[in-house]
Amino acid sequence: MDVLHHFDGGVPAPFDIVDDQVTFDLRPDRHVLHVLLRGTRPGVRVSLNVGEKTAQFVADQGLLVSRDGLRYEALPFDQSAPGRLSVGLDEGGDVYVATAPPYGRDNLDRLLTETRTAPDLAVRLLGSGGRATPLFLFGREAAGRPVHWFIGGEDAWECAGSWVADAMVRELASGGDLARRLLDRAAVRIVPLPSPYSATQPAASYTTLEGRGLYAAATWGDGQPPPEFARLRDEVVSTVRQGRLGLLLTIHSWHAARDLSGMEFIRTAGATEITGARLEWAKQTLETLIRGVPKGRAHVAEKIWHPGLARDYLLAEHGAVTFRIEITTCGQLYQGFAGTARHLLENTAAVTDWGPALPR
Ligand SMILES: [Zn+2]
Repeated sequence: MDVLHHFDGGVPAPFDIVDDQVTFDLRPDRHVLHVLLRGTRPGVRVSLNVGEKTAQFVADQGLLVSRDGLRYEALPFDQSAPGRLSVGLDEGGDVYVATAPPYGRDNLDRLLTETRTAPDLAVRLLGSGGRATPLFLFGREAAGRPVHWFIGGEDAWECAGSWVADAMVRELASGGDLARRLLDRAAVRIVPLPSPYSATQPAASYTTLEGRGLYAAATWGDGQPPPEFARLRDEVVSTVRQGRLGLLLTIHSWHAARDLSGMEFIRTAGATEITGARLEWAKQTLETLIRGVPKGRAHVAEKIWHPGLARDYLLAEHGAVTFRIEITTCGQLYQGFAGTARHLLENTAAVTDWGPALPR
């Protein structure tokens, strides 16, 4: 048996192979595993030595396993002890294993290729500083029409969010009834993967142009975020300045740390506070947006948990009410992600007044 790293910029965790058991060492706090095990024998056992946080992320999700490197299934760990999770694989041969359902640049290429003839779709490349991210634009731009933003995979390794955004692009590209209902009244902009090599990078892998480390990549409040984030932020701010912002939803994933997909907005940021009728609108909109979302739960947060994230920056600097969802990988993969995407689009279409997203 060999262990090969996958081909998207990741570095495999340290491992050792003893007989038919391979053990990856993800300690103290490494979450990302994305490798190809080549030439395994039936009954091979895959074990992870994990820190507390990694265990929290993956224990209730299982080990993600794929035969073709495209679609993964979650195999529950059949043995677990403090600091160690383990699963046996019946079949031998080549097998991909991962701790998140990988979504990288190759998935994005596939999405671009498979949707390129869709009516109503334009693609722009937002880039500078040698890095770029594709922006999918649906619907007609016109004064008075809200512009909805969906941004998946802001933080490295939070692949479930990218899968949801990917499914949104496919749903709207299909030109079906849901697409028509939403695009008759609004323009939609989707970014499935702003961060390069998202699947294989640890969450703290991002730096500014000067090499300063950032919390993941999603630090909108930073003076100089990574270049592709700076461009994305400029685009969103321009939507805000035109007074056209509808929904802005960032789609994150806390993996299996919680058995629910949590959506929230924050009530205060900097000197800004959402009160009165606008607060009621935000609560009502939150309730509408989460309806029918698999494992969905809504919550109003008093303030941000980490300063400078999109909803904190946009509320503090521009007075904009925006939303975030954390997708769970507990007991759900692609079907759950696609269902989440459909409900989120459906629910966005069901909100008739987006005016209060921006201050008067
Ligand atoms: Zn995140």
